[in-house]
Amino acid sequence: MKLLVATRSPGKQKEIRRIFDGSGIEVVFPDEAGVLESQAEVHLELGDSFAANARAKAEYFAKQTGLPTVADDSGLEVFSLGGEPGVRSRRWAGASGTEEQVAAANNAMLLRRLSGAPELKRRARYRCLLSLYRTPKAFPESFEGACTGRILEEPRGTGGFGYDPLFWSDELEKSFGEAAPEEKDAVSHRGRAFAALRQSLQGPSARSNP
Ligand code: IMP
Repeated sequence: MKLLVATRSPGKQKEIRRIFDGSGIEVVFPDEAGVLESQAEVHLELGDSFAANARAKAEYFAKQTGLPTVADDSGLEVFSLGGEPGVRSRRWAGASGTEEQVAAANNAMLLRRLSGAPELKRRARYRCLLSLYRTPKAFPESFEGACTGRILEEPRGTGGFGYDPLFWSDELEKSFGEAAPEEKDAVSHRGRAFAALRQSLQGPSARSNP
């Protein structure tokens, strides 16, 4: 089957291609499906929850293409910052430019906000919410993944994207910036949410024989 994954983020696209590798599901992104970027997309991410944003994005792209469509809304929540940056993770520091420039500004802001904070105040988690429209008029289905850790005092590693060099994974006992791609996928919020989606798309036989 063909599945439209409604994201234009190069960092996410790389991970999602990897996650679906060998699944028999053909993943396409908006550009490949012929959906040109438009101003309308800006308004899709103004909701106050990951779930609302994922649903708005999935519904929009399903209607544009008629394809089964999934959208991911994800971000970092730092507990001592009341869950910030949360749904505002992408443009938290208000910077514009390339994905790398925006990430550098966000990471600098995160280090500033946690400057001098002890380990307990650096606890954080990544969350990923997926919304799936099997057809443009179908009822949306949700899938969720999370992973916990803490924010480091300085970046470690150059892998991943966004906040990854500052995110210490409890499970991997290294930063996501230091993790190999497959290591990150095995425990990450996005890896977990997409694994649940993949199982649902492939049916019960895939569940007993992943
Ligand atoms: P979205 O495109 O609105 O879902 O925004 C996601 C933002 O959350 C990204 O631009 C990153 O800032 C952050 N984020 C989400 N997942 C990850 C990840 O796996 N690593 C690093 N940053 C992430």
